[in-house]
Amino acid sequence: MLPPIADQFVAGETAAEAISHARSLEERGIKPMLNVLGSHHDDRETATADAREYQLLIDDLADAGLTGAVSVKPTQIGLDCGVDVFEELLWEVVETAADRERFVWLDMEEHTETETIVDTYETIASEHAGVVGICLQADLHRTPDDLARLADVPGKIRLVKGGAYETPESVAYTDQAAIDLAYRTLLEQAFEMVDDTVAVATHDPEMIDHATTLAGSSAASPALEIQMLMGVRPAAQRELAADYDCWQYVPHGTRWKRWAINRARRNVTLAARSIVENTVPGRLERAVSRLDSPGESIIESGRESGSDSPAGSNSESEADTPPQSVAGPPIESGDGSGLESAGE
Ligand code: FAD
Repeated sequence: MLPPIADQFVAGETAAEAISHARSLEERGIKPMLNVLGSHHDDRETATADAREYQLLIDDLADAGLTGAVSVKPTQIGLDCGVDVFEELLWEVVETAADRERFVWLDMEEHTETETIVDTYETIASEHAGVVGICLQADLHRTPDDLARLADVPGKIRLVKGGAYETPESVAYTDQAAIDLAYRTLLEQAFEMVDDTVAVATHDPEMIDHATTLAGSSAASPALEIQMLMGVRPAAQRELAADYDCWQYVPHGTRWKRWAINRARRNVTLAARSIVENTVPGRLERAVSRLDSPGESIIESGRESGSDSPAGSNSESEADTPPQSVAGPPIESGDGSGLESAGE
């Protein structure tokens, strides 16, 4: 069992715990995308073992009657051992998914791998229509071209901001405002061009609003998915699921420490920023306005800012903001998962 806080961001160490979390999500109208934590396996044995785990997970999802998908890192299933190993193992995972009518997402990693991942995706998605999708990162200068190239390929496209990997300025935007602008522009391009599905994978309320507006007025009419990470903005996920096709990225596995610590850190940073930007000025304004209203307590008005109490084991708290302190294991370098690396 995972320690408190970690269990908000990681479903557990075992596939059974991931399936149990997936079931509870589906009961709330949110679809699960299951990930086994790990990446950059440079020996074929480990890469093959992780590919097999994905095949078993797909079987588990299908046997449990869950709609879910898996989301796989290319370097987890062989890309660091050679393109041929990656293609072979990916092919096996995708064939299992095709047999069991489930879906496989390809996560995107370092920019040095993008060309190979896009090439492999294009081939496999053309052979297995409707079974596989790919993630594209808005921070990379090349992404508008990749999006145009893949727009007609029968598969889903997940758009993320990216920015989590070290990339030179010649290859990627490194300034957050530039990444945000690139993301907006890509959303516009995607809703004009993509035939199948645009998956908007962000926690950013402005970008989600922009995407839902575009989806409503798009000539190409691709389907819209909204995707977020486990433990991040859980209340928003539930609200969005009432109106949209909403998916949650659910990591699990024994290599959970770095992921959980980075997610908790990021949530605390954003919670602190939101307190500084909203709550403190709000309380000050209320306090000033109440100087004329004797009898009302400033302390009571503080309660209006909402509860940040931590959720119980493997449950998700109601508030979008996380607990304000992080207890947990010490930071260890490298479980190798790319989504959480530098900048996250
Ligand atoms: P940010 O720019 O981080 O935040 C913008 C705003 O969103 C914030 O100001 C705040 O209002 C809100 N927000 C963000 N986080 C929180 C929070 N924790 N709590 C409350 N509000 C918050 N990257 C890859 O490189 N490859 C992948 O394959 C990949 N797959 C992903 C799959 C999913 C489902 C998701 C959600 C992300 C994925 N990412 C991937 C990561 C992505 O590239 C970004 O690094 C990450 O999502 C952070 O950017 P953001 O769009 O959420 O917004």
